[in-house]
Amino acid sequence: MARSQRIAVIGGGWAGMAAAVELAANSAHQVTVWESSAHWGGRARGLPLALPGGETVTVDNGQHILIGAYTACRALMERVGVSTDASFSKRPLALRYPDGRGIRFPDRPAPWDALIGIATAKGWSLPERLQLLARAARWRRQGFRCPPQASVADLCAGLPQRLLAEFFDPLCISALNTPIHEASGQVFLRVLQDSLFAVDKGSHFWLPLVDLGRLFPEAAATWLQARGHDCHLSARVQQLGMAESGWQINGHRYDQVLLACPPWEAARLVQAAFANPSAPVPAHAKAQAWADAAQRLAHTAIATVYAWNPAPGAQGHSLPAPWLALESSPAQPAQFVFDRAQLGDPAGLLAFVISTSDGDRADIEQQVIAQAQAQLGLALQPLKTVVEKRATFACTPGLQRPGMVIAPSLIACGDYIDGPYPATLEGAVRSGIAAAHVLA
Ligand SMILES: Cc1cc2nc3c(=O)[nH]c(=O)nc-3n(C[C@H](O)[C@H](O)[C@H](O)COP(=O)(O)OP(=O)(O)OC[C@H]3O[C@@H](n4cnc5c(N)ncnc54)[C@H](O)[C@@H]3O)c2cc1C
Repeated sequence: MARSQRIAVIGGGWAGMAAAVELAANSAHQVTVWESSAHWGGRARGLPLALPGGETVTVDNGQHILIGAYTACRALMERVGVSTDASFSKRPLALRYPDGRGIRFPDRPAPWDALIGIATAKGWSLPERLQLLARAARWRRQGFRCPPQASVADLCAGLPQRLLAEFFDPLCISALNTPIHEASGQVFLRVLQDSLFAVDKGSHFWLPLVDLGRLFPEAAATWLQARGHDCHLSARVQQLGMAESGWQINGHRYDQVLLACPPWEAARLVQAAFANPSAPVPAHAKAQAWADAAQRLAHTAIATVYAWNPAPGAQGHSLPAPWLALESSPAQPAQFVFDRAQLGDPAGLLAFVISTSDGDRADIEQQVIAQAQAQLGLALQPLKTVVEKRATFACTPGLQRPGMVIAPSLIACGDYIDGPYPATLEGAVRSGIAAAHVLA
Protein backbone atom coordinates (compact mmCIF):
# COMPACT_ATOMS: atom_id res chain seq x y z
CA MET A 1 0.00 0.00 0.00
CA ALA A 2 1.38 3.47 -0.87
CA ARG A 3 1.92 5.44 2.33
CA SER A 4 0.68 9.02 2.16
CA GLN A 5 2.77 10.77 4.81
CA ARG A 6 5.79 9.96 6.93
CA ILE A 7 5.17 10.47 10.65
CA ALA A 8 7.79 10.26 13.41
CA VAL A 9 6.79 9.37 16.97
CA ILE A 10 9.47 10.37 19.48
CA GLY A 11 9.13 8.13 22.54
CA GLY A 12 8.01 4.52 22.91
CA GLY A 13 6.09 4.78 26.20
CA TRP A 14 2.39 3.94 26.45
CA ALA A 15 1.31 7.26 24.88
CA GLY A 16 3.67 7.02 21.90
CA MET A 17 2.85 3.38 21.21
CA ALA A 18 -0.89 4.09 21.54
CA ALA A 19 -0.57 6.89 18.98
CA ALA A 20 1.50 4.76 16.62
CA VAL A 21 -0.99 1.86 16.76
CA GLU A 22 -3.96 4.18 16.27
CA LEU A 23 -2.28 5.86 13.28
CA ALA A 24 -1.32 2.53 11.75
CA ALA A 25 -4.84 1.20 12.19
CA ASN A 26 -6.73 4.25 10.90
CA SER A 27 -4.56 6.00 8.33
CA ALA A 28 -2.36 5.27 5.34
CA HIS A 29 0.63 7.02 6.94
CA GLN A 30 4.05 5.44 7.42
CA VAL A 31 4.93 5.51 11.12
CA THR A 32 8.41 5.43 12.67
CA VAL A 33 8.85 5.22 16.46
CA TRP A 34 12.14 6.45 17.92
CA GLU A 35 12.80 5.30 21.51
CA SER A 36 15.92 6.38 23.37
CA SER A 37 16.18 3.48 25.80
CA ALA A 38 16.76 -0.21 25.11
CA HIS A 39 13.17 -1.18 25.99
CA TRP A 40 9.60 -0.17 25.22
CA GLY A 41 7.27 1.22 27.86
CA GLY A 42 8.96 4.30 29.38
CA ARG A 43 7.70 4.78 32.93
CA ALA A 44 5.67 1.54 32.76
CA ARG A 45 8.12 -1.19 31.79
CA GLY A 46 9.49 -4.51 32.93
CA LEU A 47 12.95 -4.99 34.45
CA PRO A 48 14.93 -8.02 35.63
CA LEU A 49 15.09 -8.98 39.32
CA ALA A 50 17.40 -11.69 40.68
CA LEU A 51 15.81 -13.79 43.44
CA PRO A 52 17.79 -15.34 46.32
CA GLY A 53 17.54 -18.85 44.75
CA GLY A 54 19.35 -17.63 41.64
CA GLU A 55 16.23 -17.38 39.44
CA THR A 56 15.67 -14.11 37.57
CA VAL A 57 12.13 -12.82 37.08
CA THR A 58 10.80 -9.78 35.22
CA VAL A 59 9.10 -7.31 37.54
CA ASP A 60 7.93 -3.76 36.91
CA ASN A 61 9.78 -0.51 37.45
CA GLY A 62 6.88 0.14 39.84
CA GLN A 63 3.78 -1.79 40.79
CA HIS A 64 0.97 -0.45 38.57
CA ILE A 65 -2.77 -0.85 39.06
CA LEU A 66 -5.28 -0.25 36.29
CA ILE A 67 -9.00 0.05 36.96
CA GLY A 68 -12.01 -1.23 35.06
CA ALA A 69 -12.79 2.31 33.88
CA TYR A 70 -9.58 2.36 31.80
CA THR A 71 -11.47 1.51 28.63
CA ALA A 72 -8.94 2.99 26.20
CA CYS A 73 -6.10 0.88 27.65
CA ARG A 74 -8.25 -2.22 27.47
CA ALA A 75 -9.28 -1.66 23.82
CA LEU A 76 -5.70 -0.99 22.76
CA MET A 77 -4.25 -4.04 24.51
CA GLU A 78 -6.86 -6.23 22.84
CA ARG A 79 -6.13 -4.62 19.47
CA VAL A 80 -2.45 -5.65 19.59
CA GLY A 81 -3.40 -9.19 20.62
CA VAL A 82 -3.10 -9.05 24.43
CA SER A 83 -5.94 -10.85 26.22
CA THR A 84 -6.90 -8.65 29.16
CA ASP A 85 -8.77 -11.56 30.77
CA ALA A 86 -5.62 -13.69 30.80
CA SER A 87 -3.24 -10.84 31.67
CA PHE A 88 -4.95 -9.34 34.73
CA SER A 89 -6.38 -10.36 38.05
CA LYS A 90 -9.55 -8.24 38.18
CA ARG A 91 -10.94 -7.72 41.68
CA PRO A 92 -13.40 -5.34 43.36
CA LEU A 93 -11.92 -2.23 44.98
CA ALA A 94 -10.46 -2.90 48.45
CA LEU A 95 -8.54 -0.77 50.93
CA ARG A 96 -8.00 -3.23 53.74
CA TYR A 97 -5.33 -2.93 56.46
CA PRO A 98 -3.41 -5.87 57.98
CA ASP A 99 -5.75 -5.98 61.02
CA GLY A 100 -8.84 -6.26 58.77
CA ARG A 101 -9.94 -2.61 59.09
CA GLY A 102 -11.10 -0.77 56.00
CA ILE A 103 -13.36 -1.16 53.01
CA ARG A 104 -13.92 -3.86 50.41
CA PHE A 105 -16.55 -3.60 47.67
CA PRO A 106 -18.53 -6.75 46.93
CA ASP A 107 -18.66 -7.95 43.31
CA ARG A 108 -22.02 -6.27 42.55
CA PRO A 109 -23.14 -3.76 39.91
CA ALA A 110 -22.73 -0.04 40.68
CA PRO A 111 -23.89 1.69 42.82
CA TRP A 112 -24.62 -1.37 45.02
CA ASP A 113 -20.93 -2.27 45.24
CA ALA A 114 -20.07 1.14 46.74
CA LEU A 115 -23.15 1.29 48.95
CA ILE A 116 -22.66 -2.19 50.40
CA GLY A 117 -18.89 -1.65 50.65
CA ILE A 118 -19.35 1.53 52.69
CA ALA A 119 -22.15 0.05 54.81
CA THR A 120 -20.02 -2.98 55.74
CA ALA A 121 -16.63 -1.25 56.13
CA LYS A 122 -14.77 -2.67 59.11
CA GLY A 123 -13.63 -0.45 61.98
CA TRP A 124 -15.73 2.59 60.91
CA SER A 125 -18.55 3.72 63.19
CA LEU A 126 -22.13 4.07 61.88
CA PRO A 127 -21.95 7.92 61.86
CA GLU A 128 -18.66 7.71 59.91
CA ARG A 129 -20.21 5.43 57.30
CA LEU A 130 -23.31 7.66 57.03
CA GLN A 131 -21.16 10.76 56.60
CA LEU A 132 -19.24 9.12 53.78
CA LEU A 133 -22.48 8.08 52.04
CA ALA A 134 -23.92 11.58 52.45
CA ARG A 135 -20.77 13.22 51.02
CA ALA A 136 -20.68 10.82 48.05
CA ALA A 137 -24.38 11.55 47.39
CA ARG A 138 -23.68 15.30 47.51
CA TRP A 139 -20.84 14.97 44.96
CA ARG A 140 -23.12 12.97 42.70
CA ARG A 141 -25.89 15.59 42.95
CA GLN A 142 -23.33 18.24 42.00
CA GLY A 143 -22.37 16.24 38.90
CA PHE A 144 -18.93 15.43 40.34
CA ARG A 145 -17.85 19.04 39.75
CA CYS A 146 -16.11 21.51 42.04
CA PRO A 147 -14.27 24.83 41.67
CA PRO A 148 -10.92 24.36 39.87
CA GLN A 149 -8.97 25.69 42.85
CA ALA A 150 -10.44 23.18 45.33
CA SER A 151 -8.11 20.53 46.73
CA VAL A 152 -9.22 17.02 47.69
CA ALA A 153 -8.84 18.11 51.33
CA ASP A 154 -11.30 20.96 50.63
CA LEU A 155 -13.79 18.47 49.20
CA CYS A 156 -13.44 16.33 52.31
CA ALA A 157 -13.64 19.20 54.83
CA GLY A 158 -15.69 18.23 57.89
CA LEU A 159 -15.38 14.48 57.38
CA PRO A 160 -14.03 12.43 60.30
CA GLN A 161 -10.26 12.04 60.51
CA ARG A 162 -10.54 8.25 60.24
CA LEU A 163 -12.17 8.51 56.79
CA LEU A 164 -9.42 10.82 55.62
CA ALA A 165 -6.63 8.59 56.96
CA GLU A 166 -8.06 5.22 55.97
CA PHE A 167 -9.94 6.03 52.78
CA PHE A 168 -9.34 9.36 51.04
CA ASP A 169 -5.62 9.63 51.73
CA PRO A 170 -4.69 6.23 50.26
CA LEU A 171 -7.22 6.55 47.42
CA CYS A 172 -5.96 10.00 46.42
CA ILE A 173 -2.30 9.03 46.73
CA SER A 174 -2.78 5.96 44.57
CA ALA A 175 -4.88 7.74 41.92
CA LEU A 176 -3.13 11.13 41.72
CA ASN A 177 0.26 10.48 43.38
CA THR A 178 -0.33 13.74 45.21
CA PRO A 179 -1.30 14.19 48.91
CA ILE A 180 -4.89 15.29 49.55
CA HIS A 181 -3.96 18.82 50.69
CA GLU A 182 -2.17 19.43 47.38
CA ALA A 183 -4.29 17.31 45.03
CA SER A 184 -6.81 18.65 42.50
CA GLY A 185 -10.39 18.08 43.67
CA GLN A 186 -11.65 18.33 40.09
CA VAL A 187 -9.41 15.56 38.77
CA PHE A 188 -10.12 13.38 41.81
CA LEU A 189 -13.88 13.71 41.29
CA ARG A 190 -13.51 12.83 37.61
CA VAL A 191 -11.63 9.61 38.49
CA LEU A 192 -14.26 8.81 41.12
CA GLN A 193 -17.12 9.41 38.68
CA ASP A 194 -15.57 7.28 35.93
CA SER A 195 -14.70 4.43 38.26
CA LEU A 196 -18.07 4.38 40.04
CA PHE A 197 -20.49 5.21 37.23
CA ALA A 198 -18.97 5.28 33.72
CA VAL A 199 -18.70 1.55 33.02
CA ASP A 200 -19.78 -1.68 34.64
CA LYS A 201 -17.13 -2.80 37.18
CA GLY A 202 -15.26 0.47 36.56
CA SER A 203 -13.91 0.52 40.13
CA HIS A 204 -12.42 -2.98 39.89
CA PHE A 205 -8.68 -3.07 40.42
CA TRP A 206 -6.84 -4.69 37.51
CA LEU A 207 -3.56 -6.17 38.72
CA PRO A 208 -1.19 -7.22 35.96
CA LEU A 209 -0.20 -10.90 35.89
CA VAL A 210 2.50 -10.28 33.29
CA ASP A 211 5.11 -7.53 33.23
CA LEU A 212 4.11 -4.09 31.95
CA GLY A 213 6.24 -4.35 28.80
CA ARG A 214 4.37 -7.46 27.67
CA LEU A 215 1.00 -5.95 28.57
CA PHE A 216 1.12 -3.41 25.76
CA PRO A 217 4.27 -1.65 24.50
CA GLU A 218 6.26 -4.73 23.39
CA ALA A 219 3.16 -6.26 21.81
CA ALA A 220 2.51 -2.91 20.10
CA ALA A 221 6.04 -2.82 18.60
CA THR A 222 5.60 -6.34 17.21
CA TRP A 223 2.15 -5.44 15.84
CA LEU A 224 3.50 -2.28 14.15
CA GLN A 225 6.51 -4.04 12.62
CA ALA A 226 4.29 -6.79 11.25
CA ARG A 227 2.40 -4.07 9.34
CA GLY A 228 5.52 -2.52 7.83
CA HIS A 229 6.08 0.32 10.30
CA ASP A 230 9.50 1.06 11.84
CA CYS A 231 10.28 0.87 15.54
CA HIS A 232 13.79 1.77 16.71
CA LEU A 233 15.12 1.10 20.22
CA SER A 234 18.28 2.72 21.67
CA ALA A 235 17.69 5.59 19.23
CA ARG A 236 17.52 8.88 21.09
CA VAL A 237 16.37 11.90 19.14
CA GLN A 238 18.99 14.52 19.95
CA GLN A 239 17.59 17.23 17.80
CA LEU A 240 14.44 18.17 15.96
CA GLY A 241 15.38 20.01 12.78
CA MET A 242 13.09 22.06 10.57
CA ALA A 243 13.16 20.84 6.97
CA GLU A 244 11.81 22.51 3.82
CA SER A 245 8.34 21.08 4.31
CA GLY A 246 8.39 19.12 7.49
CA TRP A 247 10.99 17.95 9.96
CA GLN A 248 14.41 16.31 10.09
CA ILE A 249 15.10 13.59 12.68
CA ASN A 250 18.16 11.36 12.90
CA GLY A 251 18.90 11.98 9.20
CA HIS A 252 15.33 11.29 7.98
CA ARG A 253 12.65 13.67 6.74
CA TYR A 254 9.11 13.53 8.14
CA ASP A 255 5.90 15.32 7.23
CA GLN A 256 4.65 15.40 10.82
CA VAL A 257 6.16 14.76 14.25
CA LEU A 258 4.58 13.56 17.46
CA LEU A 259 6.51 14.29 20.64
CA ALA A 260 5.67 11.39 22.97
CA CYS A 261 8.66 11.89 25.27
CA PRO A 262 8.32 13.30 28.82
CA PRO A 263 7.58 17.04 29.18
CA TRP A 264 11.12 18.12 30.09
CA GLU A 265 12.53 16.36 27.00
CA ALA A 266 9.77 17.61 24.72
CA ALA A 267 10.47 21.15 25.98
CA ARG A 268 14.19 20.75 25.23
CA LEU A 269 13.53 19.59 21.66
CA VAL A 270 10.97 22.34 20.99
CA GLN A 271 13.15 25.11 22.44
CA ALA A 272 16.11 24.07 20.29
CA ALA A 273 13.99 23.65 17.13
CA PHE A 274 12.45 27.11 17.50
CA ALA A 275 15.60 28.88 18.67
CA ASN A 276 16.33 29.57 15.00
CA PRO A 277 15.39 33.23 14.42
CA SER A 278 14.21 32.39 10.87
CA ALA A 279 11.15 30.61 12.27
CA PRO A 280 7.97 32.68 11.72
CA VAL A 281 7.43 34.92 14.77
CA PRO A 282 3.91 33.80 15.87
CA ALA A 283 4.84 30.11 15.51
CA HIS A 284 8.04 30.79 17.42
CA ALA A 285 6.24 32.52 20.31
CA LYS A 286 3.57 29.82 20.55
CA ALA A 287 6.15 27.03 20.58
CA GLN A 288 8.25 28.78 23.22
CA ALA A 289 5.15 29.31 25.38
CA TRP A 290 4.33 25.62 25.02
CA ALA A 291 7.87 24.64 26.06
CA ASP A 292 7.69 26.98 29.08
CA ALA A 293 4.41 25.38 30.22
CA ALA A 294 5.87 21.87 29.82
CA GLN A 295 8.97 22.83 31.76
CA ARG A 296 7.00 24.43 34.60
CA LEU A 297 5.29 21.16 35.59
CA ALA A 298 6.38 19.87 38.99
CA HIS A 299 6.84 16.14 39.48
CA THR A 300 6.50 13.67 42.32
CA ALA A 301 8.42 10.44 42.89
CA ILE A 302 7.27 6.87 43.42
CA ALA A 303 9.52 4.26 45.01
CA THR A 304 8.99 0.50 44.92
CA VAL A 305 10.79 -1.82 47.33
CA TYR A 306 10.95 -5.45 46.22
CA ALA A 307 11.56 -7.71 49.22
CA TRP A 308 11.82 -11.41 49.91
CA ASN A 309 9.95 -13.41 52.53
CA PRO A 310 11.97 -16.59 53.15
CA ALA A 311 9.09 -18.22 55.03
CA PRO A 312 5.80 -17.74 53.13
CA GLY A 313 2.71 -19.44 54.56
CA ALA A 314 0.17 -21.87 53.13
CA GLN A 315 0.00 -21.89 49.29
CA GLY A 316 3.11 -19.71 49.25
CA HIS A 317 1.18 -16.62 50.34
CA SER A 318 2.76 -13.94 52.54
CA LEU A 319 -0.42 -11.84 52.94
CA PRO A 320 -4.11 -12.67 53.46
CA ALA A 321 -4.94 -10.81 50.18
CA PRO A 322 -3.02 -9.88 46.99
CA TRP A 323 -2.61 -6.35 48.37
CA LEU A 324 -3.08 -4.49 51.64
CA ALA A 325 -3.08 -0.83 52.60
CA LEU A 326 -0.50 0.12 55.24
CA GLU A 327 -0.44 2.85 57.84
CA SER A 328 1.98 5.35 56.41
CA SER A 329 4.12 8.03 58.10
CA PRO A 330 7.48 9.66 57.31
CA ALA A 331 9.25 6.86 59.22
CA GLN A 332 7.07 4.08 57.77
CA PRO A 333 6.59 5.39 54.24
CA ALA A 334 4.90 2.56 52.27
CA GLN A 335 1.17 3.01 51.59
CA PHE A 336 0.57 -0.39 49.96
CA VAL A 337 2.08 -3.85 49.86
CA PHE A 338 1.49 -6.46 47.14
CA ASP A 339 1.98 -10.19 47.55
CA ARG A 340 3.46 -10.95 44.13
CA ALA A 341 3.00 -14.69 44.71
CA GLN A 342 -0.75 -14.10 44.40
CA LEU A 343 -0.13 -12.30 41.10
CA GLY A 344 1.85 -14.91 39.22
CA ASP A 345 5.36 -14.44 40.68
CA PRO A 346 7.34 -16.88 42.88
CA ALA A 347 6.25 -17.41 46.50
CA GLY A 348 7.98 -14.99 48.86
CA LEU A 349 8.19 -11.95 46.54
CA LEU A 350 6.57 -8.76 47.88
CA ALA A 351 6.38 -5.24 46.43
CA PHE A 352 5.96 -2.17 48.66
CA VAL A 353 4.78 1.08 47.06
CA ILE A 354 5.78 4.51 48.36
CA SER A 355 3.90 7.20 46.43
CA THR A 356 5.02 10.85 46.71
CA SER A 357 8.23 9.39 48.09
CA ASP A 358 10.94 11.51 49.53
CA GLY A 359 14.47 10.77 50.63
CA ASP A 360 17.16 8.47 49.41
CA ARG A 361 16.92 4.90 48.16
CA ALA A 362 18.87 3.25 51.01
CA ASP A 363 16.84 5.05 53.72
CA ILE A 364 13.53 4.16 52.05
CA GLU A 365 14.54 0.52 51.78
CA GLN A 366 15.59 0.31 55.43
CA GLN A 367 12.41 2.06 56.63
CA VAL A 368 10.17 -0.26 54.59
CA ILE A 369 11.86 -3.41 55.91
CA ALA A 370 11.29 -2.12 59.46
CA GLN A 371 7.69 -1.19 58.57
CA ALA A 372 7.05 -4.74 57.30
CA GLN A 373 8.31 -6.14 60.60
CA ALA A 374 6.20 -3.71 62.66
CA GLN A 375 2.93 -3.85 60.67
CA LEU A 376 2.98 -7.30 59.05
CA GLY A 377 5.23 -9.24 61.44
CA LEU A 378 7.40 -10.28 58.47
CA ALA A 379 11.22 -10.45 58.58
CA LEU A 380 12.07 -9.56 54.98
CA GLN A 381 15.22 -9.37 52.95
CA PRO A 382 15.45 -6.37 50.58
CA LEU A 383 16.03 -7.31 46.92
CA LYS A 384 15.79 -4.12 44.87
CA THR A 385 14.48 -0.61 45.35
CA VAL A 386 13.47 1.39 42.29
CA VAL A 387 13.00 5.14 42.76
CA GLU A 388 11.34 6.91 39.83
CA LYS A 389 12.06 10.52 40.72
CA ARG A 390 9.78 12.04 38.09
CA ALA A 391 7.10 9.34 38.16
CA THR A 392 4.11 11.64 37.60
CA PHE A 393 3.36 15.35 37.44
CA ALA A 394 2.02 16.78 40.69
CA CYS A 395 -1.73 16.95 40.05
CA THR A 396 -2.49 20.20 41.87
CA PRO A 397 -5.65 22.39 41.79
CA GLY A 398 -5.97 24.73 38.83
CA LEU A 399 -2.87 23.28 37.14
CA GLN A 400 -2.34 24.62 33.59
CA ARG A 401 -1.18 21.66 31.53
CA PRO A 402 0.30 22.13 28.04
CA GLY A 403 -2.03 21.45 25.11
CA MET A 404 -1.59 18.98 22.28
CA VAL A 405 -0.76 21.25 19.36
CA ILE A 406 2.64 22.98 19.41
CA ALA A 407 2.88 24.10 15.79
CA PRO A 408 1.49 22.99 12.44
CA SER A 409 2.65 19.38 11.96
CA LEU A 410 4.19 19.26 15.46
CA ILE A 411 1.97 17.62 18.10
CA ALA A 412 2.62 16.33 21.62
CA CYS A 413 1.08 13.50 23.61
CA GLY A 414 1.68 12.00 27.02
CA ASP A 415 0.10 11.68 30.45
CA TYR A 416 0.88 15.36 31.17
CA ILE A 417 -1.02 16.85 28.20
CA ASP A 418 -4.15 18.80 29.15
CA GLY A 419 -6.96 16.37 29.89
CA PRO A 420 -9.33 15.14 32.57
CA TYR A 421 -7.09 12.43 34.02
CA PRO A 422 -4.10 12.47 36.34
CA ALA A 423 -0.78 10.94 35.22
CA THR A 424 -1.96 7.42 34.50
CA LEU A 425 -1.67 4.83 31.78
CA GLU A 426 -5.21 5.70 30.73
CA GLY A 427 -4.36 9.41 30.53
CA ALA A 428 -1.26 8.59 28.44
CA VAL A 429 -3.14 6.25 26.09
CA ARG A 430 -6.10 8.61 25.60
CA SER A 431 -3.70 11.43 24.83
CA GLY A 432 -1.87 9.25 22.28
CA ILE A 433 -5.11 8.31 20.57
CA ALA A 434 -6.31 11.93 20.44
CA ALA A 435 -2.96 13.00 18.93
CA ALA A 436 -3.20 10.25 16.31
CA HIS A 437 -6.59 11.57 15.23
CA VAL A 438 -5.16 15.06 14.77
CA LEU A 439 -2.20 13.72 12.77
CA ALA A 440 -4.33 11.43 10.63
C1 LIG B 1 6.59 3.85 39.73
C2 LIG B 1 5.37 4.26 38.97
C3 LIG B 1 4.13 3.77 39.33
C4 LIG B 1 2.99 4.15 38.62
N1 LIG B 1 1.79 3.60 38.95
C5 LIG B 1 0.74 3.79 38.14
C6 LIG B 1 -0.48 3.07 38.34
O1 LIG B 1 -0.60 2.28 39.28
N2 LIG B 1 -1.50 3.27 37.46
C7 LIG B 1 -1.39 4.11 36.39
O2 LIG B 1 -2.32 4.21 35.59
N3 LIG B 1 -0.25 4.84 36.19
C8 LIG B 1 0.80 4.69 37.02
N4 LIG B 1 1.97 5.36 36.79
C9 LIG B 1 2.00 6.40 35.74
C10 LIG B 1 2.23 5.81 34.34
O3 LIG B 1 3.31 4.91 34.33
C11 LIG B 1 2.53 6.95 33.39
O4 LIG B 1 1.45 7.86 33.43
C12 LIG B 1 2.70 6.50 31.94
O5 LIG B 1 3.58 5.41 31.84
C13 LIG B 1 3.24 7.68 31.13
O6 LIG B 1 3.39 7.28 29.78
P1 LIG B 1 3.91 8.29 28.68
O7 LIG B 1 3.99 7.53 27.42
O8 LIG B 1 3.10 9.52 28.73
O9 LIG B 1 5.39 8.75 29.13
P2 LIG B 1 6.72 7.89 29.31
O10 LIG B 1 6.41 6.55 29.86
O11 LIG B 1 7.66 8.74 30.10
O12 LIG B 1 7.28 7.68 27.84
C14 LIG B 1 8.17 8.57 27.21
C15 LIG B 1 9.19 7.76 26.41
O13 LIG B 1 10.01 8.67 25.68
C16 LIG B 1 11.33 8.18 25.67
N5 LIG B 1 12.21 9.30 25.34
C17 LIG B 1 12.58 10.34 26.14
N6 LIG B 1 13.38 11.18 25.46
C18 LIG B 1 13.51 10.68 24.21
C19 LIG B 1 14.22 11.12 23.05
N7 LIG B 1 14.91 12.27 23.02
N8 LIG B 1 14.19 10.33 21.92
C20 LIG B 1 13.46 9.17 21.92
N9 LIG B 1 12.77 8.72 23.00
C21 LIG B 1 12.78 9.49 24.12
C22 LIG B 1 11.49 7.62 27.08
O14 LIG B 1 12.57 6.71 27.16
C23 LIG B 1 10.13 6.95 27.27
O15 LIG B 1 10.13 5.61 26.83
C24 LIG B 1 3.10 5.06 37.53
C25 LIG B 1 4.36 5.57 37.18
C26 LIG B 1 5.49 5.16 37.88
C27 LIG B 1 6.83 5.70 37.45
